[in-house]
Amino acid sequence: MSAMSQGTVVLFPQGVESCTARVVHVQPAEGTHLSEGTNLFVVTDRTPFHPVDHTWPDQPGDEGTLSAGGRSLRVVDALTAASGPDGVLRVGAEIPVRRNEPGWSFLVAHVVEAPGDMPASELAGAEVTLAVDSARRRALSMAHTGCHLMSLALNGRLRDLWKKLPRTDCLGNPDFDQVAIVESRIMPMQSVDRYRLGKSLRRAGFDVAALTDALESVREDVEERLGRWIEAGGRVTIETEAPELASRRWWTCELPEGPARIPCGGTHLGNLGELASLAVRFEIGEQELVVHTTAKQA
Ligand SMILES: [Zn+2]
Repeated sequence: MSAMSQGTVVLFPQGVESCTARVVHVQPAEGTHLSEGTNLFVVTDRTPFHPVDHTWPDQPGDEGTLSAGGRSLRVVDALTAASGPDGVLRVGAEIPVRRNEPGWSFLVAHVVEAPGDMPASELAGAEVTLAVDSARRRALSMAHTGCHLMSLALNGRLRDLWKKLPRTDCLGNPDFDQVAIVESRIMPMQSVDRYRLGKSLRRAGFDVAALTDALESVREDVEERLGRWIEAGGRVTIETEAPELASRRWWTCELPEGPARIPCGGTHLGNLGELASLAVRFEIGEQELVVHTTAKQA
């Protein structure tokens, strides 16, 4: 049985930022151009690092350190990887299967900057300490929670612009976000969401012209709704089915309108009171609405 036959246990859903772990696989990180030094892919039995998702790369991988035997090495990225019956590590786009494929395990590949004189074998089987850059993690969590709130506030404000009812979100509003989203990018303290406004959205029953006409009022109402939600200070949790990376996870949040729940693989705040505000800016074109959401810490 390969050392990588167990999926990596991930501790980020509980907000963990450091832990000890055992290295189960290490190899040169070919195809990464993240730093000048020699990069290694290091897989451990468990980790606090959140890896970027290879199919929906909204939140980037955590950065931090890996310490072993008196050395402290930089972790410059954390990627989603998988290993199947052949025991070969496939990273990111090389993963050929879905998460529930029998015989495959999903893993966090830490991209570790190793000094030139350090053989990969030095880390094989080692007990290491993994620590996430907590300031960056926190800024990403702020932005990710803000991004989910923005999507729900936007769905709520746009509810009357649908002529036919599409699927609804967790608060019962037509789910503009899910129907129209093209790309979501989480950065420290801000997110950028791109929504398509073309023919297929019109055909789905959405009144694009009404949105364009009311854009500033939509923006103001969305910000006002976000302000009310932050004021209420609801609790945020990440629910999981199992501790391994491949498990399904949901962001849940107490809002004045009721409990919100969205499938999500990212990291989040513990409480909306950690935010001071969320500011929203729109850029609109013929085919696209781009929403910039900026978080401010309380
Ligand atoms: Zn999310």
